[in-house]
Amino acid sequence: MKDLFSIRGKKILVTGGARGIGKTVAEHLLDAGAQVGLVDINAGQAEETAAALAAKTGGACAAFGCDVTDPEAVTRTFANFIARFGTLDAVFNNAGITYFKEAEALSPEEWKKVIDVNLNGVFYVAQAAARCFLQENKAGSIVNTASMSGLIVNIPQRQASYNTSKSAVVHLTKSLAVEWAAHNIRVNCISPGYIRTDMTGSVRQDWVAWWEDLIPFKRMGTPEELVGAVIYLISDASTYTSGANLVIDGCFTCI
Ligand code: NAP
Repeated sequence: MKDLFSIRGKKILVTGGARGIGKTVAEHLLDAGAQVGLVDINAGQAEETAAALAAKTGGACAAFGCDVTDPEAVTRTFANFIARFGTLDAVFNNAGITYFKEAEALSPEEWKKVIDVNLNGVFYVAQAAARCFLQENKAGSIVNTASMSGLIVNIPQRQASYNTSKSAVVHLTKSLAVEWAAHNIRVNCISPGYIRTDMTGSVRQDWVAWWEDLIPFKRMGTPEELVGAVIYLISDASTYTSGANLVIDGCFTCI
């Protein structure tokens, strides 16, 4: 039982790893003995974060600049990851964006951008990961970041594109889980509620007060409170778990 949750020695790629949830999860993966590649559109910030996390944890952490909406860049990034770490064991497929804007005012470009990063990007990364696992004929774990917004409609802010993209991530997760089950490739997602990061850090304070009043826990979550779920879904503690959506939201979606 001692090693059930161990991820020691695993080679893990984290997208959106330069800051926010990806950065915090990456730090704890390193602390737990994994080797981590941070993939982010902001290459400079990813380099800075990788250096800081390597220094803080003593673990092996490398940065890869990559826009997950570019499938060719994603393929190249996985090749670079394998060249650097030798193999791939798991992916935390986490990069995402949001626009707070009324649906009637949203431009086609804004709609497409959210769908492109949050849905297409998640697919391209999952596909590239599966190709690596299949090529080596090995088991693998993919953990996608969906959101409670894929299950409910948030208020008071307007974010139809985001909600739609995250709902699709939940069903994409189930679809890929079934498709790749025979290959021992597990695909799960986490659905965080309101988490304090840069994404939520600059929103109107009256919205935050509204959210905290609605959340049964009466507070937002922290990125650290998502770490255990990601480690569980990557580790051998979850070898019979695939297609699952682990909701971590302080009970928001229970009411
Ligand atoms: P964040 O602080 O904004 O961090 C997201 C990271 O992803 C940033 O480093 C960002 O780079 C990067 N990124 C954006 N577009 C990218 C692209 N096309 N290719 C590669 N990297 C890209 O956000 P977060 O709060 O940590 O959110 C992480 C994930 O959790 C997202 O999928 C989000 O939807 C989800 N989530 C967040 C919350 C929450 O309350 N925070 C709740 C539920 C779900 P830049 O800095 O250059 O933009």
